Amino acid sequence: MAAALTLPQANDVRRFEDTFAHLMGQRDAIAFPYGRTGLALLLEALGLRDREIIVPAYTCVVVPHAVVFSGNQPVFVDSRPHDFNMDLAAAERLVRDRTGALVATSIFGYPVDLDELEALSRRHPEVIVIQDCAHSFAAEWHGRPVHRAGVAALFGLNISKLLTSIFGGMVTTDDPILARRLRGLRDRRLAPSTWAKSMRRLLYLAAVYPAFTEAGYALVRAIERTGVLDTLVRYYDDDVIDMPADYLQAMSALESRVGRAQLARYPEIVARRRAAADAWRERLARESGVELPPHVPGATYSHFVCLVDDREGWIKRWRQKGVELGQIIEYCVPELPAYRDGKRTSFPCASGYARRAINFPVWLEPDRIRALG
Ligand SMILES: *Cc1c(COP(=O)(O)O)cnc(C)c1O
Repeated sequence: MAAALTLPQANDVRRFEDTFAHLMGQRDAIAFPYGRTGLALLLEALGLRDREIIVPAYTCVVVPHAVVFSGNQPVFVDSRPHDFNMDLAAAERLVRDRTGALVATSIFGYPVDLDELEALSRRHPEVIVIQDCAHSFAAEWHGRPVHRAGVAALFGLNISKLLTSIFGGMVTTDDPILARRLRGLRDRRLAPSTWAKSMRRLLYLAAVYPAFTEAGYALVRAIERTGVLDTLVRYYDDDVIDMPADYLQAMSALESRVGRAQLARYPEIVARRRAAADAWRERLARESGVELPPHVPGATYSHFVCLVDDREGWIKRWRQKGVELGQIIEYCVPELPAYRDGKRTSFPCASGYARRAINFPVWLEPDRIRALG
């Protein structure tokens, strides 16, 4: 009976994985309920425990949470000044005997510098490279996809990502032995999904769906300002190292179907984001007091993020034009209470991004963006 109930669900998830692997040009893709679950189990499948894992200071806080949950310790690296990504020279200075892996993140879709990364790998072949492509998906560094430049790549699939399965995450790899080990670990460790989980996901989707239509977005932001929405959509805590209650419950069939339905649209989604980024670049050239991000040909623009000093002022001013700007990664992880460790390391670049980053909506039509007053 149990087998009859779980089998169709497993088939749905497997079809999503196979289609995802095909789209990314990788041998295997393994699905998880969250990206962070995938990262924690990947570190375990790689045999890493009580090791230091190098991660960016400027990244989503769920990444170091997953490192801690895997029994390892995150070591933070400041960003470099021009594209939000981790400073790889600074990362290399932190490599020591206890270092197990380095999580190379292509933040906001800006491809990590693969030339620098590979030079680091040549000097330290023992440091395992994991690509965090939660923002970038198939971003390219001089024509080479970043997600294939490590032992494995991590993708996030919650509703704020380029592709979504409501919640969810995926790990891809070309290493068949690692894939088998990770799949086995996942199947042993995760509880099967339940109808109750599918229903929760469906309710969540209904609650957040308006955020993806323009009028709905303003409505959702209005509700958000009352604080009610927060309890519904907030999916991590900055202050404590924690995982969601269902982080070890498998991806639901519903989520995998939502995810698979989106995969065919990937080229169109990226093309639209690039067009929106170009339009924002043009429109914002008329403004003063804003630092535009670099133009990088292979970037996929999960977000179009600029730097301003007076973030609140910008948000207010643009709200009057009918455009909701957002805060995005408004923290430098090692400065959060949960990760502050008394060491006097400073992260000037990441702190600056945390204070000054402002997110322009990439889902607006390019013509609409150019025409904004
Ligand atoms: C979203 C995200 C992840 C994965 O997040 P989950 O919510 O666990 O799916 C990983 N890394 C980065 C940089 C992210 O933004």
